[in-house]
Formats: sequence, structure tokens, C-alpha cells
Amino acid sequence: MIQENLNNIKKQITDICLNIDRDPKSVVLVNVSKTKPISILEEGYEAGMRIFGENKVQEICDKYEQFKKEDIKWHMIGHLQRNKVKYIVDKVDLIHSVDSYRLAEAISKEAKKKNVVAHILIQVNVAQEESKYGLETKDVMDMVRSIHQLEHLKIEGLMTIAPFVDDPEENRPIFKALYQLSVDIKEQNLDNVSMDVLSMGMTNDFKVAIEEGATMIRIGTALFGDRNY
Ligand SMILES: *Cc1c(COP(=O)(O)O)cnc(C)c1O
Repeated sequence: MIQENLNNIKKQITDICLNIDRDPKSVVLVNVSKTKPISILEEGYEAGMRIFGENKVQEICDKYEQFKKEDIKWHMIGHLQRNKVKYIVDKVDLIHSVDSYRLAEAISKEAKKKNVVAHILIQVNVAQEESKYGLETKDVMDMVRSIHQLEHLKIEGLMTIAPFVDDPEENRPIFKALYQLSVDIKEQNLDNVSMDVLSMGMTNDFKVAIEEGATMIRIGTALFGDRNY
């Protein structure tokens, strides 16, 4: 089942990329395994999944302990509280959800303590939805200018969660805006800022996101089925 879902998603990624002259390898798939038990992650691993996205600190820590494989990468995709940074900073390969200077500062501090470099994305609430975390688009440039000076941190790019819509086309302007913002930031040539990662697109809208320049998509439902909370 999971193997079939994964093949299906990979095929779709390949088809879209070939359509727009992009290398399919330029799109990284984050397998969003939140709420799913280890047995399911194991099945995913057997099917070839190596990057797992989780949105809760406790769940990452539990799964990290229970499911140890050398080549697995954990991504934190959910809202992160400053006081919990210390539990995951040396366990995750990428934090997608940095949306304040104080959080970045906490990550920098804990990364220094553990002598690691934390790789982060800045979360942007492009659609300005009240229910969502993330910086407003207009505030991102200044935030990047402050955060990039922190030690033991590398800003790899931007992330957004687009609204839940019936027609994914409605989210195209959001993805376009995030892409443009990444281009503007890249032009500044700041130290420790790369903008190689544009994390946008989920089960419902990943095709449009890839067309608009996503280099990382986060898929849960289409791979693992519905989530029971
Ligand atoms: C749950 C989640 C996803 C996956 O969403 P699906 O619609 O199940 O693909 C992606 N990104 C974030 C930040 C999430 O919390």
C-alpha cells in the first residue's frame, strides 16, 4: 500500500518536472509521518523513504529513539517552542518552522552547546491566515538580515503552508510570492543564507507548488492515508 502510494507520488513528481523542464531530482520529498506508528514508518523505510516530517517535539524524540537507522533524516515541520529546542536540535536535519528572532536565537544557542550547525527555514504566512504561524511576507527580509548573523545556524530557505482550498490553482499566487521572496533574499548574498530550499506544497497542492519552484514538498495523506487524531 505505502509502496504503491510512494511510487504514485514519485511518478507524479517526475511527470510534472518533465513537463516544465525540471530535473525530478530537484524536488525533495518529505514524508510526513506525524501521528503514524513506527510500524508504518518501517513500511515506508522499506519502500525507500528516508526523510520523515514530524510536527511535535515529543513525537520526534520518541520515534528517534525507537526507530534508529543511520540514513534517516528527521525534519521538524511544526510550530516549535523555544523551551523545547534543546530536545531536538541535534536530532533533526532541518527545522522548517522558524518564525521569530527569539526562536532562532534559542536554536543558535542550543546548537552551539551541542556543537552542531542547525539548518533552518523561515516560515512565511504568505496568505496571512490568522490560524497559521509564520512571518508576514513584508517582514521576512529584515528577519533574515538579523537571524543570519547568529552563530551555529544556516538559513537554507523558506517554507509556507498554503490555505486548504478546493482548487489548488487558488494557491498558485501564494507559491509564486514565496518563490519571488526567495529570489529577492538570494540577491542580497548574505553569509549563511542559501535559499536553495523552497518548502511548499502538500497532498492537495504539490503539483502547483512544483510548477512554481518548490524544491521540497511535504506529503502526508497521499502516502500514509488519513490521520486519526
Ligand atoms: C501535516 C502537514 C503536512 C502534510 O499534509 P498532507 O495534506 O497530509 O499532505 C505538510 N506540512 C505541514 C507543516 C504539516 O503539518
